[in-house]
Amino acid sequence: MSIKLHFLNVGNGDCTIIDFPARVVKKTKEEKDERIMMVDVNHNSEYNEYEHVINYYKKNFKNESGGLRSIFRYVATHPHKDHMKGLTALFDNISVINFWDIEHNFEPDQSGPQWEEYKDDWDRYVEIRKGKENPKVLFYTDAQKPVQYWNEDCIEILSPSKELYDFVHTKEDGTKRNAEEIGAQLNNLSYVLLIHINNLKILLTGDAEPRCWEYILKNYKEKIKNIDILKAPHHGRESAFHEETIKVMNPKHIVFSVSEDCEYVVPEKYKKAAPRAIVYKTCDLGSFILDCDFDGNVTLV
Ligand SMILES: [Zn+2]
Repeated sequence: MSIKLHFLNVGNGDCTIIDFPARVVKKTKEEKDERIMMVDVNHNSEYNEYEHVINYYKKNFKNESGGLRSIFRYVATHPHKDHMKGLTALFDNISVINFWDIEHNFEPDQSGPQWEEYKDDWDRYVEIRKGKENPKVLFYTDAQKPVQYWNEDCIEILSPSKELYDFVHTKEDGTKRNAEEIGAQLNNLSYVLLIHINNLKILLTGDAEPRCWEYILKNYKEKIKNIDILKAPHHGRESAFHEETIKVMNPKHIVFSVSEDCEYVVPEKYKKAAPRAIVYKTCDLGSFILDCDFDGNVTLV
């Protein structure tokens, strides 16, 4: 039995699709169907050089009768453009049952040239957040509070938390940050998800930056020891590299979701902090799959 992680080559952005196998949950002896979780999307129908997310999904996620499987759980790690571009196309083409969002007061800058190519997806995101579409929406603020579904797929939510929410929205002097300031700190409110099945540990990190890693180190040091697969936070950029945490994690496999032209990526720092790690970059490999058994054996497909 194995779990498959699809890392899509979407340039400077993220799109990870996780295919959970059907299995029996030990504690409850309950049978669980196969499930798909998608974490973020960065899709542009007009780009040829990167993966066409919708076509990739249609090709790879059919059920036995040839129909398209639903996304059981879509996770928006944080609402920056490179993590939600193409949301409209995705929701128009694929059925989504649950939508995991974070609680935040972020508003994108609507004056810049990027706004036009982003506006539709932002508007759709706001509609989904308001519950105007089918997916059941979860707003998450506190990593200490259990939520529905997380036990079923062995997912533990390490971030966001109330503490990080307060940091992102409030300055040290107690006054509120404005939208631009919230945007600058928003990476620290990313979902950080630990999938822990038997001996296998996978850590999905959004764009979590050092403030978030300090929080996780303080609260979850034991949990993040000996990670099998780490999705490097913030596309492996220097701004999210937190040496002490990487040393604790000592990951065996590190995935960088990034384009060739990004100058700020620091795989050598990761390698130094975690010498045993094998590094995978979407810009080198294109889209790829890691197939993992529950003892932590990982195969590149
Ligand atoms: Zn990003």
